[in-house]
Amino acid sequence: MSIRRLFQPSALHWARRTAAMTSTLGRQQGVLRWTHSGGRRNYRAVIFDMGGVLVPSPGTVAAEWEVQNRVPSGTIVKALIRDGDSGPWMRFMRGEMTTEAFLEEFGRVCSEIAKTSVPVESFFSLLTSETVAKPFPVMTQAISQIRAGGLQTAVLTNNFCLSNGKSFLPLDRKQFDVVVESCLEGICKPDPRIYQLCLQRLSLQPAEAIFLDDLGPNLKAAARLGIHTIKVDHPETAVKELEALLGFPLCVGIPNTRPVRKAMEIPKDALEKYLKGLLGTHGTGPMEILQFDHGQSNPTYYIRLADRQLVLRKKPPGVLLPSAHAIEREFRIMKALGNAGVPVPTVLDLCEDSSIIGTPFYLMEYCPGIIYKDPSLPGLEPRQRQAIYTAMNQVLCRIHSVDLQATGLDDFGKQGDYIRRQVQTWTKQYRAAETSSIPAMERLIQWLPLHLPRQQRTTVVHGDFRLDNLMFHPEKAEVLAVLDWELSTLGDPFADVAYSCLAHYLPSSFPMLRGFRDQDVTQLGIPAVEEYFRMYCLHMGLPPIDNWNFYMAFSFFRVAAILQGVYKRSLTGQASSATAKQSGKLTEFMAELAWDFATKEGFRVFKEMPAAKPLVRSYHAWAGSQPRQTPTGVRSHSTLAAASPAQEAKGGLIISPEGLSPRVRKLYDRLLQFMEQNVYPLEPELQRHQASADRWTPSPLIEDLKEKAKAEGLWNLFLPLETDPEKKYGAGLTNVEYAHLCEVMGMSLYASEIFNCSAPDTGNMELLVRYGTEEQKARWLVPLLEGRIRSCFAMTEPQVASSDASNIEASIREEGGSYVINGHKWWISGILDPRCKLCVFMGKTDPQAPRHQQQSMVLVPMDTPGINVIRPLSVYGLEDAPGGHGEVHFKDVRVPKENIVLGPGRGFEIAQGRLGPGRIHHCMRLIGYSERALALMKTRVMSRTAFGKPLVEQGTILADIARSRVDIEQARLLVLKAAHLMDVAGNKAAALEIAMIKMVAPSMAYQVIDRAVQAFGAAGLSSDYPLAQFFAWARALRFADGPDEVHRLTVAKMEMKNPGRLQAPAAPRV
Ligand SMILES: Cc1cc2nc3c(=O)[nH]c(=O)nc-3n(C[C@H](O)[C@H](O)[C@H](O)COP(=O)(O)OP(=O)(O)OC[C@H]3O[C@@H](n4cnc5c(N)ncnc54)[C@H](O)[C@@H]3O)c2cc1C
Repeated sequence: MSIRRLFQPSALHWARRTAAMTSTLGRQQGVLRWTHSGGRRNYRAVIFDMGGVLVPSPGTVAAEWEVQNRVPSGTIVKALIRDGDSGPWMRFMRGEMTTEAFLEEFGRVCSEIAKTSVPVESFFSLLTSETVAKPFPVMTQAISQIRAGGLQTAVLTNNFCLSNGKSFLPLDRKQFDVVVESCLEGICKPDPRIYQLCLQRLSLQPAEAIFLDDLGPNLKAAARLGIHTIKVDHPETAVKELEALLGFPLCVGIPNTRPVRKAMEIPKDALEKYLKGLLGTHGTGPMEILQFDHGQSNPTYYIRLADRQLVLRKKPPGVLLPSAHAIEREFRIMKALGNAGVPVPTVLDLCEDSSIIGTPFYLMEYCPGIIYKDPSLPGLEPRQRQAIYTAMNQVLCRIHSVDLQATGLDDFGKQGDYIRRQVQTWTKQYRAAETSSIPAMERLIQWLPLHLPRQQRTTVVHGDFRLDNLMFHPEKAEVLAVLDWELSTLGDPFADVAYSCLAHYLPSSFPMLRGFRDQDVTQLGIPAVEEYFRMYCLHMGLPPIDNWNFYMAFSFFRVAAILQGVYKRSLTGQASSATAKQSGKLTEFMAELAWDFATKEGFRVFKEMPAAKPLVRSYHAWAGSQPRQTPTGVRSHSTLAAASPAQEAKGGLIISPEGLSPRVRKLYDRLLQFMEQNVYPLEPELQRHQASADRWTPSPLIEDLKEKAKAEGLWNLFLPLETDPEKKYGAGLTNVEYAHLCEVMGMSLYASEIFNCSAPDTGNMELLVRYGTEEQKARWLVPLLEGRIRSCFAMTEPQVASSDASNIEASIREEGGSYVINGHKWWISGILDPRCKLCVFMGKTDPQAPRHQQQSMVLVPMDTPGINVIRPLSVYGLEDAPGGHGEVHFKDVRVPKENIVLGPGRGFEIAQGRLGPGRIHHCMRLIGYSERALALMKTRVMSRTAFGKPLVEQGTILADIARSRVDIEQARLLVLKAAHLMDVAGNKAAALEIAMIKMVAPSMAYQVIDRAVQAFGAAGLSSDYPLAQFFAWARALRFADGPDEVHRLTVAKMEMKNPGRLQAPAAPRV
């Protein structure tokens, strides 16, 4: 199996594509009606920009290179525009810098932006390599046509000089009447002088020229001079626009063909004789044969004989594996499907007699139409895109509805168990090609066989069904032919459906397989994946499927295994393509995507399990024995536990950072480093600010650090993958993964805000993600996620015991189109912060309703009249500025009815959801407080001496240290267990563990911190160390997160209900 077969258009495909281009010429009007409209003027020259118009742009090359080299996306482009005219890129373009000087400065700028060293030399050599800097064939052809039409052509480029002193111009200069290069002229676009220079050399007025560029500012400058401009997003679309302006065709001949190479020649006379016999053609004129550029795996030829245009596809010469290059199968399936009414190319004849041209071959007719290479369908309207994707879906249904017996295809492949066989095959292929261990692949190899769909239908499957394997009618959304049947067999049709959705998840810059992940499908008009599956089931008359994530995981796994094969062959020199070498890196990318889908499928399955089941569910834990020092000198909490992928796949509990997946491990290490470099050093300054008169104004230092954290991807880490499976809002961590990171943030009281992970915003953001309407999300969630505003949560009231939320008395009364709020609240954290713009308010909408349906939650903008903050409350004298904890009156506060969350009476339901993960975040942080306290204690007792020996040698101190270590370890394991159960079984099933850890963590931290304070002596009570604040917080959290007693009650009730735990004799037998 070669990547060429899967990703590059096969020879057949190209044959069709080329045929399509040729045939659309005669239908120009039709194409234009579907895409563009334009008029004709007297133009005398066309001026082309180079990068992005004639050859790939630096930005596009950079985007791919960044993916492959794991450089933060956008680094190169940011560096290119850094400092505008005086930046290194523009100076280089003006020829003011040598290549060496440029690379040095550019490298520094990139590394500054990416915050890691960026190997710009590798980018530069890729940009200037022959494989990348290749003119787009459609442009080369258009230029020839323009010249043939009597117009001049020019290239006007911002380019640079290479280290050999020559300017970088990977074009055939003979194609241009004028070449203007910025590095030789010392002027760059958009400086008007360089356009004038070009016009001067063409001896033309601006209105006589058309200028094509991919960059807005360059086009604007040209337009200001009066030159007609075309913005080039896609060369093919731009050429069509140019055609419309010039009024004559620019795509002629057979694109992507060449004269037949010597080694690929076929005996012309024998073929001509054969064809004449076959077609009964007696026309005159020589037979024309061209070879398609692509499709070396099965060489493919264009043949024109008299008035017939054909495509011939043959096996390659030499000794072949029996199953390889099975053109007979391609012929058979196309013939059978054609007879059954599936749109496929019309096959004419299969010639298995090798004596004619040396190998078997088959012949097809041309099939006119359009192939959409870019799945985002640029240049079309949303409704047209919708129609194209619907037609694609429908034609797939036609393929899958073919009667196997009636078409004689029932032996075209094995029947049944397709996915299992495929997983085995691709696992074997992957193992054979494995070059290093890829954790996501290991997990998938374990996971996929355990989650095979229970029911699988057997139909014809195409095997490579995607948009650019379809030939469309040029004027309407109708599939004229499905191409490239090389991988077809019998199998599970959902595999084709999933495979046709790969583009939804790949970036537009993705090498080899273009996607549109970075675009909004709703705006584009392209159906989302779920909708696409639904549409398919509807057309097929099937019930909607719920395990489509499994099929997506399988599809990406298959692609990853194929890419690994290509990579291996590139290493052993059997694959020559430049992209082959890159495929190794892409394997990992694809495998991680596949694993994301496996995770989503896992959540779905667990959610469907009965809630009681997880209580008796076993889980796995493991540990090694190696201690670890963190940069802070704090002992790593864990004994080493490197999670084997197999263990993780079974849902193992990750008890130490060493067991995290590479992606999360990187985040974790980055977080540790960030804390070391940016947070701990600033603590004294932040503490001073909190004690100063300015304390109610947020510290600018925090705002700076927020920006820095955001730039490093250490942002919104809290939102659990389960709540945000598409990773639309957060980093997509599981609760366990976040527990490890949250603990690190807990080491400093200032840290969680810096990473936008602090309460009460986290709970409120989760609430909005889960229950907010689109309008509520747009208004509140977006600025909260961006860290532009803050929020508070108002439940507790001074006059009632608020640990029982059903006591809450504040009223939310409906009046006309509004809710009117009245109530007295206190301990409302964050409400004094000037950035606090939103209050999530809990009160009663219906005091007569059943107890748990009286309460509702309403979103209250903080600038609504009637909100009066009476005073800040302090915790042991600490005000916790600038957010503080406020006592507040709400008097006739009026908000629109749309501000209610989920609906009236649903406050309790939301509170359960809101306080699931949000509550254990405090526990995660409390482990961090405790670790920091213990670390401070150990340092302190080693440096002070009393009664003749260092404190550390006093037995009681050692006993306290041991006690604290044990307490922390115990509590951490329970935090992780709770988080793990939330991940694998859901928040509801983890209720017992959540209650247990909420009961344990604050008291544990309180005691560990107290021991540290004691060992510090009086200094421990002062604000010179974070201990006093840690202590106050740990104490406060024994209420703030619900009083200990309430959690104890929950644990006890559940314990008594659980029969499994009563199996041992309750009392000694007599
Ligand atoms: C620092 C801090 C920040 C806070 N932030 C917020 C906030 O942002 N928003 C908000 O709405 N609230 C906030 N609170 C308030 C907090 O949620 C409440 O204090 C808590 O819910 C307890 O309510 P209460 O103070 O009314 O105590 P009460 O309900 O009066 O309870 C008092 C005590 O009674 C005992 N008790 C209660 N129930 C039981 C039982 N079933 N069995 C045995 N004993 C029991 C416990 O010892 C409990 O501590 C915050 C509190 C603090 C200290």
